[in-house]
This record gives sequence, structure tokens and C-alpha cells, in this order.
Amino acid sequence: MTETTDSTNNPQIAFIGLGNMGGPMAKNLLKKGYSVTVFDLSDDAQQQLAAAGATTSTSPKEAAKNAEVVITMLPASKHVKSVYLGDADATELTEEGLLSDLPAGTLVIDSSTIDAAAARTVARIASDKGIDLVDAPVSGGTAGAEAGTLTFIVGGNDSAFNRAEPILKAMGKNIFHAGDNGAGQVAKICNNMLLGILMSGTAEAINLGVQNGLDAGVLSEIMLQSSGRNWTLEVYNPYPGVLENVPSSRGYTGGFMSQHMHKDLHLALQAAKDIGADVPMGAKAAELYDEHIKQHNEKDFSSIMAHFNDSVLTQS
Ligand code: NAD
Repeated sequence: MTETTDSTNNPQIAFIGLGNMGGPMAKNLLKKGYSVTVFDLSDDAQQQLAAAGATTSTSPKEAAKNAEVVITMLPASKHVKSVYLGDADATELTEEGLLSDLPAGTLVIDSSTIDAAAARTVARIASDKGIDLVDAPVSGGTAGAEAGTLTFIVGGNDSAFNRAEPILKAMGKNIFHAGDNGAGQVAKICNNMLLGILMSGTAEAINLGVQNGLDAGVLSEIMLQSSGRNWTLEVYNPYPGVLENVPSSRGYTGGFMSQHMHKDLHLALQAAKDIGADVPMGAKAAELYDEHIKQHNEKDFSSIMAHFNDSVLTQS
């Protein structure tokens, strides 16, 4: 049975960016009784949301026409700037930008993972127009997006956070207020740098065992009950056939694309460079993904397993 709640007081939402994450997040808002108008460049993505009860539109501006809340779940900084400011390289608002049409009092939630400086720029321009904006990147993957159990890491002022929190709770379980605008993005890239290191290291260790004659599933279970235990072994094993319903067991499709992990690792390296922090492990993981995306840009990031053993690409 579909879970619904009383929608009488729910604000009208515009949701822009309906990919691997945004699609299921928007569906959860519909299930919780929100009225949602969607936009994505992909007509197919829009139709899937229409089937779930959303209203479709032909542009971000049309989607947001009567919205009190706008949510975006876009690939990277350039897409976020392009939607809100009207140009991928903009540092100020142009007429094409969605912010130029939104009335004061609108709440904007950007859940894309982007660089903190871009998040602060868009927030400053929004604030100049009396619009509340929070950066609210997520952790929890596509499984968390579908189950409505995402972790949201929010940057913004207290009143914007308080307005966003009930809406985020309709899509997630843990909602953290990390600090002012940009703080959500900083926390998120620290997490994803560690995730990139863990995934690369886990793939390296499994391959070492397999090349020494061990079964990948047996080795994974041993490490899970030992000190090498980590999230990738628990719920996102990169070796085909060890876990069901994960990208490695379906040809590395769906999930979190390698190009996004590559982007996040470089966001982390840039943030480190800006303040002179030492990130040798993050730099090594970035180097592996630099090479990996040349052939596997759109495959899930666990396909880094193929860097160590390319036979995994034909095993699932
Ligand atoms: P995706 O590439 O699957 O989806 C992005 C969607 O945005 C696509 O449907 C695309 O058509 C749409 N889009 C691009 N430009 C647009 C525009 N100008 N207007 C409207 N739609 C536009 O990406 P995803 O996996 O859903 O990830 C989205 C964000 O969330 C990224 O920043 C990613 O780093 C982050 N993220 C992803 C995961 C994951 O597991 N996939 C987990 C945490 C965070």
C-alpha cells in the first residue's frame, strides 16, 4: 500500500533533475502527499515521474511557476549555476536564471554535490532577492533514495534549515545541519573522498585474494567480520555476485556513476589545495578514477574493480 499523509498544508514543490537519485527522491515526496511539478532534460525521466503522479513541465521556470519550494538534484556545479543563474560560468544572475523569476520567500534546496564556492555564490544571489537557499547534498546512494532513508547534510542559516527540515524528512532519515551555506558541501566531499579511497582499497584487497586463489565471497565475509570491515563491503561489494541487488551484480549499471565519484574526488583535491591540507590517499584515488573514467564514465563507481581485474566486466 502506498504511504500517504495529509497534504492540506504541504507546500507546492518544483523538482528539477530526475536521474538515479532525483527520480526516486521526487517519488517519495509524491508518496508523502506533496504536489510536485518536475523538470528534466530527459523526457523519459519526466514520463516516469508523470506515471507516479507528478506534473511535468518544459523548463525549470515553468516547473517553478507556482512553487513555494524548489529542489534540484543535478550532476555538477555547472548544471546548478546554469539552472539558477542562467549560465554555467555565471558569477551573477542573468535573466535566463531561475532565481530571476522566483518570488521573495521561496525556499530553494540544492541537493546536488557541487563545490562549496559555487554553493555560496548561488546562496548569496538568492539571499539578495529574499530567497532562502540551503545546500543539502546527500549520502546513502540510490538504495537510500528509493527507501527514503537518505542522510542530508545541510548548509544554510537556521530559519532556512528549519523550513527545509520537514521536506527533507520526507526523503531521508538523518538530517544534519553542518553550518552556514557551503558547509553541507564541505562535509559531503570529505565523506566522498573517504568513500573513493575505501572503494578503491576494497577492490584492491579483493583482487589480491582472488588472484591468490580465494573466493571473492568468502574473502569478503572474512573481512566483514575482521578489521577491514567498511561500508563498501557491507552494502556495495564491488565484486560481481557477492551481494545481490548492487551495481556490480548487474553489469555495474545504475547507482553512482564513476564520473560523479571522479568529480567529487577532484572537488576534495581542490578544497585541500585551497587551504594547503595534505590528501595523499585522496590524490591516489583521484588518479585511479582519472584513468578509469576514460572507458567507464557511466558505469557505477564500484567498477573501479575492473582496474585490478577487467574480467569482472563480463562476469555479471
Ligand atoms: P544522474 O546523472 O543520474 O542525474 C542527473 C539528472 O539531471 C539527469 O536526469 C539529467 O538529465 C538531469 N539534468 C542535467 N542538467 C539538467 C538541467 N539543466 N535541467 C534539468 N535536468 C538536468 O545523477 P545522480 O546519480 O542522480 O546524481 C545527482 C547528484 O547527486 C550528483 O551531484 C551526484 O554527485 C550526487 N549523488 C549521487 C549519488 C548516487 O548514488 N547516485 C549519491 C549521493 C550523491
